[in-house]
Amino acid sequence: MTTLQQAFSPDSFRKNAHTLVDLLADYLESAQNQTFTSVIPYQEPDESLAFWQADYEHGAGNIEDFFRKTIEKSTHLHHPRYMGHQVTPPLPITAIASMLSGLLNNGMAVYEMGLVSNPLERILSELLAKKIGFDNNASGLLTSGGTLANLTALLAARAAKTDVWEEGNGDKLAVMVSEEAHYCIDRAARIMGMGSEGIIKVPTNERLQIRTDLLEKYYNEATEKGFKVICIVGSACSTSTGSYDNLVEIGNFAQKHHLWFHVDGAHGGAVIFSEKYKNKVNGIEQADSVVIDWHKMLMTPALATALIFKRDEDAFKTFQQKAQYLWANQHSKDWFNSGKRTFECTKLMMSLKIYSILKAHGVQIFTENVEHLHGLAEKFAKIVKSRPNFELAIEPESNIVCFRLTPSNANLNELNSAIRKQLLQEGNFYIVQTTLKENVYLRVSLMNPLTTEADLNALINEIERIGNQIS
Ligand SMILES: *Cc1c(COP(=O)(O)O)cnc(C)c1O
Repeated sequence: MTTLQQAFSPDSFRKNAHTLVDLLADYLESAQNQTFTSVIPYQEPDESLAFWQADYEHGAGNIEDFFRKTIEKSTHLHHPRYMGHQVTPPLPITAIASMLSGLLNNGMAVYEMGLVSNPLERILSELLAKKIGFDNNASGLLTSGGTLANLTALLAARAAKTDVWEEGNGDKLAVMVSEEAHYCIDRAARIMGMGSEGIIKVPTNERLQIRTDLLEKYYNEATEKGFKVICIVGSACSTSTGSYDNLVEIGNFAQKHHLWFHVDGAHGGAVIFSEKYKNKVNGIEQADSVVIDWHKMLMTPALATALIFKRDEDAFKTFQQKAQYLWANQHSKDWFNSGKRTFECTKLMMSLKIYSILKAHGVQIFTENVEHLHGLAEKFAKIVKSRPNFELAIEPESNIVCFRLTPSNANLNELNSAIRKQLLQEGNFYIVQTTLKENVYLRVSLMNPLTTEADLNALINEIERIGNQIS
């Protein structure tokens, strides 16, 4: 057998896959039972690089050893004390489906290369469109992350409001957004040539929501300076504090000025699965486009992001492109040719991973997760408020909680930064930090449904212990 034949051998695939499944099942077990304590085995970047350089020098050989080291040296999202960034511990069934999509590798851009994944993508888009409250004119797509989805939505807004796609830049265009919006909106506007002035950042109130009472003022100032405002973005919710903008008022404002209304629901849009929490996104049905990350509260491995349009035809205006070798008719609105509406040409079979959840567990599991994670945040907020030396930045609206230790006679910014640094180095919890109006806060995103109240209490105790040690 040649090396190539051997590499493709079904027997060796079976053997390696079994090895990996056993390792991953062991990982899940020890993470969930906390028999290993390390949530994040933090190493300095150069130290980690040196380790892998030495590994590389050993050359090809032992794949099991590579699997083991990767598991051991990665951040462990399935550990109940993982409370860091807003990335989900994926459901195990989705990891298995990832293997399926990895091996089948149907590239999706054209129907013939996505016979299964294109129809599944349509079914999933319709599921979200219905939950958002759109009618049958809606349609959607999956793309590689919230960042790219937001750029795609802004490009669709521009295509709907201008001729830039054909004519090149004419008017000075602008987008309105909250100053707390995710940085990718700013990045998207700059990529589109709007410059720093074309991204109009509206201040936020004490709950860090966009101040809708200032929308007219900022709009008028921009118009007087010669800008053509094409779009307003509502954050649902904001990344650092989980604050939901008032989508009803933003929607009314957009309608009044004929602006495209985009909702960045990358994180919090998932509440549409919950009767209990979906009132947080009241008004979302007025939007022209909505982004929701399946890889945040919806337990799918990254990247898998939905972009849903109120009107199907808008999705096809974004990227009008001739590509004779891909599709015969450039103008037809064929939902089954993924590449007509997405930035990507070749694309991962994301829909398989999400669909595997529906098949294995049913749609109800999304509701349960969203409600459980919000409940955890409410519990954690209660714990913080019950402790004399702690304070919340704001009452949490989502599964994100910002708080800090506040002993008297300490520099609070230095103290809380030092605490977070020590937590990282010890590795028994993983949390992050954020700065709000110049104050440093510790920040948890409660992403893991297996986190318990005991873990939350342990975190607070640990922070207090480190705080006492430092100050
Ligand atoms: C996470 C997030 C994004 C970015 O999404 P990615 O999938 O990480 O690219 C954008 N907006 C909001 C509100 C987010 O929470």
